[in-house]
Amino acid sequence: MNIAVIGTGYVGLVTGTCLAETGNHVVCVDIDVNKVEKLRNGIITIYEPGLESLFEHNIKQGRLSFTTELHEGISGADIVFLALPTPPGNDGSADLQYILKVADDLGQLLTKYTVIVDKSTVPVGTAERVRDHISKNTNQEFDVVSNPEFLREGVAVEDFMKPDRVVIGTTSEKAKKLMSELFAPLVRQGNPILFMDERSAELTKYAANSFLATKITFMNEVANLCEKLGADIDAVRKGIGTDTRIGKRFLFAGIGYGGSCFPKDVQALAKSSKSVDYDFKILNAVMDINTSQKVKLIPKMESYFNGDLANKTIAIWGLAFKPYTDDIREAPSTENIRILIEKGAKIQVYDPEAIENIRVKFGDSINYYEDEYSALKGADALLIVTEWPIFRTPDFVRMGELMNQKLIFDGRNLYATELPEKHGFTYISIGRKEIYGK
Ligand code: NAD
Repeated sequence: MNIAVIGTGYVGLVTGTCLAETGNHVVCVDIDVNKVEKLRNGIITIYEPGLESLFEHNIKQGRLSFTTELHEGISGADIVFLALPTPPGNDGSADLQYILKVADDLGQLLTKYTVIVDKSTVPVGTAERVRDHISKNTNQEFDVVSNPEFLREGVAVEDFMKPDRVVIGTTSEKAKKLMSELFAPLVRQGNPILFMDERSAELTKYAANSFLATKITFMNEVANLCEKLGADIDAVRKGIGTDTRIGKRFLFAGIGYGGSCFPKDVQALAKSSKSVDYDFKILNAVMDINTSQKVKLIPKMESYFNGDLANKTIAIWGLAFKPYTDDIREAPSTENIRILIEKGAKIQVYDPEAIENIRVKFGDSINYYEDEYSALKGADALLIVTEWPIFRTPDFVRMGELMNQKLIFDGRNLYATELPEKHGFTYISIGRKEIYGK
């Protein structure tokens, strides 16, 4: 099939590349001239495991190309995916300006029956609005389908190629047939394509992300309680996770969720609920708790240093909002860095992939290092923010030699508490006993 993907960010580039890999001819469109220039020159613009080789292979095969021109991109397309940003507007609801602008333009460009697919995360009723915006400018037959994306950054290619399920919101038989054909190679193992109405498909995405954010937040609350009651969150996690009704995943306590999706989607669902006079109370609690959870180690750090972080050197391991990505949107690292700078601390950071993105945000106000050990030189404390595997089995002896003090604040509970304790570290983590080094 001929496919156009409008918006070539995390979702668009993965969607375009993977659909080219399954044999389609894909043109990706983006208004960012620099991005398109790089992609045309074979330079990948995001870090996503496994993506680069598929990207190179499909360009070479002539199935994947890039343009800044919408009319060029959609010419001959059977299906047009919208993978555009839906950031929070001033009031927290999803800002649909990018989607509706492209819908207006598409109306002027359709020359044959086309399926327009909302892949962006959009509030209930958006498919109808997109349809209205397109029809204003055309008499061509077309369908608008909601096909929310569930890929996780860091494993996006795998998630796209082997989805747990594909959700397709449409009542058009013609669109259903085309979408089924397109997704057939991805669900050969028997995972379902779930057809439903557009509104339910749109809500499914928000409900999924909000449920996951709630699950994480619930465990963070239990962890905070563990600290007060002298219980251990790891033991409690295992205790409840073995109950098949609860399941083992998304039960790890830490310093909050971030990223481009959970924070904005929880906020947008709360706003959508409010707009129909429904007070979705649990979502407000989730947002409040997560905001404080993200920076919960700072007061502990301050209290350790008798209320004064000025001129303390703090090393930070991990900047991306989660491992295997360079994405720092809403990452807990950014809020911690901001506050630490404000308090006069000197900051030394390392992340395997996200350094350049953090450099754009913080410039010369912090120091950047090439590996995890050099970031520790002369540090008064280490703050662990992202659970990259490289941080899981460090050389504690070497760490102790490099640091000014053997002091770790671990926002991701990477170590069994005995390990840093054995090496004389003070080790303060989430929902577990605080260890004070000798
Ligand atoms: P992104 O910001 O990485 O990419 C969006 C791209 O759209 C950018 O490259 C931007 O230049 C481009 N763009 C903006 N206006 C344009 C226009 N008029 N024409 C062409 N291109 C235009 O965003 P993303 O992370 O890929 O997210 C896209 C959507 O998918 C959002 O709604 C998001 O909530 C949803 N989503 C994201 C993820 C994720 O993990 N990132 C997962 C599932 C769903």
